[in-house]
Amino acid sequence: LVSRDHHVQRTTVRVDGVPIGPGTVTLIAGPCAVETPEQTLRAARMAKAAGAALLRGGAYKPRTSPYAFQGLGEAGLRILAEVRAETGLPVVTEVVDAADVELVAEYADMLQVGTRNAQNFALLQAVGGIGKPVMLKRGMSATIEEWLMAAEYIAQRGNLDIVLCERGIRTFETATRNTLDISAVPVAQRLSHLPVIVDPSHSGGRRDLVLPLARAAIAVGADGLIVDVHPRPEQALCDGSQALVDGDLRELARVMTVLPPLG
Ligand code: PEP
Repeated sequence: LVSRDHHVQRTTVRVDGVPIGPGTVTLIAGPCAVETPEQTLRAARMAKAAGAALLRGGAYKPRTSPYAFQGLGEAGLRILAEVRAETGLPVVTEVVDAADVELVAEYADMLQVGTRNAQNFALLQAVGGIGKPVMLKRGMSATIEEWLMAAEYIAQRGNLDIVLCERGIRTFETATRNTLDISAVPVAQRLSHLPVIVDPSHSGGRRDLVLPLARAAIAVGADGLIVDVHPRPEQALCDGSQALVDGDLRELARVMTVLPPLG
């Protein structure tokens, strides 16, 4: 269902009217985690000023350590809904448990499945059946074939509004948090008709790498970018070291106007 063998034209997925697909580079930006109403609103305003069309923000955070901040849960979803009302930005947020899909879908315009759940087949089937667009991150150790098969689990439930997101894979390299597999973008676009976006924040794990990786992603033909933004990264409860601040966002906006979309 997700293969280009059966669907030659590349697909544009619309999230509350916002297109993600060939001919555009859609910017999704916002805080890694929803922490407070004030932090989320400020991050959303920063994102919007930089040209973001969609707001990201995690209310359910799948953290490596069980002692790390796990997200605000439904209270975080309510904050996202308030910030959407205030800014007009549709919301992309992660769901980590099949049991929460209905609840998260009440608030989200697009559901995100993260790298750690990229082969949680019960979750993939649940998001496939809920009737909202889905952003599927690549599993950190998944081959492109496994990533596309994960998308197939969603599609099989009747949902073809799927956006693939390359977010870096696990390699022997320790200088970066993950290794951005830039070749995965054109490879996945040739194998599948689905849009492919890149997360340069979770790939590099470092603020200074987000812009170079974003440039590379646009140059190679990515259909969008998803980046972390925080008004006070030094106080962030999650991944502050990779969050962009105002100056970086201005530069990202400039880069996005200079580099035309490839697709
Ligand atoms: C995220 O985008 O908030 C996230 C946790 O990303 P990943 O699943 O790629 O680690």
